[in-house]
Amino acid sequence: MLIKLYNTLGRKKEVFTPISSDSVKMYACGPTVYDYAHIGNFRTYITEDILNRVLKFNGLKTLYVQNITDVGHLVGDGDVGEDKMEKGSRVNGMTAWEIAKKFEKAYFDDSEKLNIIHPDIIARATDHIKEQIEIIEKLFELGFAYTISDGIYFDTSKQSDYGKLANLDKEGLKEGARVERNPEKKNDTDFALWKFSPKDKKRQMEWESPWGIGFPGWHIECSAMSVKYLGEPFDIHAGAIDLVPIHHTNEIAQNEAVYGHKTVNYWLHGAFLSINGGKMSKSLGNIYTITDLEKRDFDPLSFRYFTMSAHYRQPLNFTWQALEGAQTAYNNLVHKISYLLNDSPVSDKANEEYINKFIAVINDDINMPEAVAVLWELIKDPNIDSNSKILTVEKIDQVLGLSLIDKAKKINNEIKNIPKEIVLLAEEREIARKNKDWKKSDELRQKILDLGYEIKDEKMGFEISKK
Ligand code: AMP
Ligand code: ZN
Repeated sequence: MLIKLYNTLGRKKEVFTPISSDSVKMYACGPTVYDYAHIGNFRTYITEDILNRVLKFNGLKTLYVQNITDVGHLVGDGDVGEDKMEKGSRVNGMTAWEIAKKFEKAYFDDSEKLNIIHPDIIARATDHIKEQIEIIEKLFELGFAYTISDGIYFDTSKQSDYGKLANLDKEGLKEGARVERNPEKKNDTDFALWKFSPKDKKRQMEWESPWGIGFPGWHIECSAMSVKYLGEPFDIHAGAIDLVPIHHTNEIAQNEAVYGHKTVNYWLHGAFLSINGGKMSKSLGNIYTITDLEKRDFDPLSFRYFTMSAHYRQPLNFTWQALEGAQTAYNNLVHKISYLLNDSPVSDKANEEYINKFIAVINDDINMPEAVAVLWELIKDPNIDSNSKILTVEKIDQVLGLSLIDKAKKINNEIKNIPKEIVLLAEEREIARKNKDWKKSDELRQKILDLGYEIKDEKMGFEISKK
């Protein structure tokens, strides 16, 4: 079946044709491990995980590489400001190496809670300094690199199509990049390949190079590591939309300068997650982590479910209320599936019609809101028997990654001894409670009590027990 993906390079939906007919090589920009990843970052990582799962669902083997930026990502928009790792070290009172280790672990712990499949290869920038230096040497040989007082820079005027990914002319890029002017640079859009360590200060992370002690620029790590593990050209490079005008534009510039041709066939970019309609920022205190969600009794998977309420190329606005709504819907879904487990099996086959509907939407540029709608339609369809529904959900969940059957089985075990009539009353009461219809909710609680059962409210639904 055809897969269509929206390629930022060219700005249109295209039929996805992998280089090899049975496998896909993909790369996604990973976290800068100077702090906890926030829910905005995780919106992007979930999108990339779903992309990986969609490709697998189509029978393609995937080789998925993600980098860990543990050096050289400066806090400034251009090549100015402190290195994020050194900043993280200063703020946390730990060494930059300890910081990297701590937040890389936190990143994978949170990823696991979100059912993100671990990438096949994790590549750390600090483990690939040699490879980065080699590319810079090639760029020198080919006349694309020059030295100024604070480092080695890429000469963007040497490339006639520089900025093609962002679809901006050089004038536009100058404004778009908001790069602080550096009078020594030949062009405003030129960017650092290697930065020299300050003469008066020893950095925690610095290396020898043919040009002096220093550290790599942010973009060079992705050029070096993607090609090292995936070869060139490779199939897909993904990230969030903010990476288009600078990071990915500069990665393309470096690669195409070295190889003389395109090294990535499809560029995929996800839209941002906003909070209460605005940006996340430290000063607003609204940079939430997965732990923050858990502290408020949210299941991380309800956040995963929430991210599927918008197409990955559409902005998504986070509010606690919206997450509450997602958690209720997710919880409801799991409960509905748990009741199906009680029925005796009639069919032992997944429903092909629904699987095909599901494939049609996921293969149409990964339309997850539609995919979730197909799932609900299946659950509510009176013409499909329970076991066939379960087998279909099991398949669909290979892409959704919501642990639907496991969670449903857990609930089912817990409520096994509770009559269906009581469970339905409890479910009705749960809806009344969510609608803040306290009168109806109290009446239903009393009815359940009269029938000999007690109900306890939990954030993830309710618990029923015999009186
Ligand atoms: P960083 O750790 O800042 O390099 O960001 C890691 C990834 O998360 C990058 O792909 C960013 O583009 C992405 N990202 C950052 N903020 C958001 C956001 N609010 N919504 C979605 N993705 C984001
Ligand atoms: Zn990158």
